[in-house]
Amino acid sequence: MPACNTPPDILAFPPTPHVCARCAKCCVVVPGDEDMLFPLFEEEVARLEAAAHELIPGVSPVAPAPNSPAFLAAMLRLFPDDALRVRELIPEAGRHMQLAVTGTGACVFLGDHGCRLPRDVRPAHCLLFPFWFHRNRLRVLEADCLAIREAGAIWKLLQTLDLKEADLREAFGRLRRIWGLPPMI
Ligand code: SF4
Ligand code: SF4
Repeated sequence: MPACNTPPDILAFPPTPHVCARCAKCCVVVPGDEDMLFPLFEEEVARLEAAAHELIPGVSPVAPAPNSPAFLAAMLRLFPDDALRVRELIPEAGRHMQLAVTGTGACVFLGDHGCRLPRDVRPAHCLLFPFWFHRNRLRVLEADCLAIREAGAIWKLLQTLDLKEADLREAFGRLRRIWGLPPMI
């Protein structure tokens, strides 16, 4: 669930990429995947709760979900070199916190014009989508994303979404720190 359709007057970040206005999928959960949203840990939960207090008073920005085998497997695929730590953070039969969604599956921070959170408040995984890093290399996630389908090449996707690899690296570094993982080398 990443950052799309956000008007430039709210964020000090690139204007809305047109492709996202046509797609607008990534901040809405697909039925059946409700417990598969990216996990959030203490630091981000606290930041989101503070933001929710201002933006959506009375609405909890996070919700618990079970650590299903499918969820753990998905996280292990994302962090193939950090399995021990991932299993520590996501114990079987435990649960994780994730962004809360409305009855229609939309993230509670999704507004009519995109994400209502300032960029520096958004979860790191939202800043990264639809990118990821694997062994220090930028790669594109396997995701139902119109921008991926239309871009055809990683440089074009970066250009289309007006993202810079350096900013993505920073977001990934933040995510690894929050997860208690060693810095990317
Ligand atoms: S926090 Fe913002 S970018 Fe992330 S899923 Fe929610 S609306 Fe989308
Ligand atoms: S094109 Fe990709 S990044 Fe943009 S809204 Fe769709 S899924 Fe999200």
